[in-house]
Amino acid sequence: MPYDYDDQNIFAKILRGEIPNTTVLETEHTLAFEDIAPEAPVHTLVIPKGAYVCFDHFAADASDAEIVDFNRAIAEVCRIKQVVPGDGQGGYRMVANSGENGVQDVPHMHVHILGGRHMGRMIPRSS
Ligand code: 5GP
Repeated sequence: MPYDYDDQNIFAKILRGEIPNTTVLETEHTLAFEDIAPEAPVHTLVIPKGAYVCFDHFAADASDAEIVDFNRAIAEVCRIKQVVPGDGQGGYRMVANSGENGVQDVPHMHVHILGGRHMGRMIPRSS
């Protein structure tokens, strides 16, 4: 399906250097930076440098090199932030909000890395 990428979104502006960010990691195809409104002691965003709207767009159209780089960058961010299970802060949650029902505010593909506290159940158990 065609994806309509808005190059005026806030992460596109960060990638172009028009808005500052606190960079955690930069690789050939990926940028990781601190979320401006953290919801946990660790809250880092990982974005591909390419113009992808959401995860399914990225998975469908990104090159193998971009996909490998992105996934390795996520793992490296987890090591940098010391949230890898068994490494200090005891694990993390990855979230990729996509589209309206996913409550995605910024239409540039991104993964949230959340940690530094117990994140609670994502979907409460009914019993
Ligand atoms: P979404 O709801 O799209 O999954 O998450 C977007 C995230 O981007 C939010 O957690 C929000 O705090 C973060 N954010 C929005 N604007 C900026 C900004 O200008 N700089 C940074 N670093 N994060 C931002």
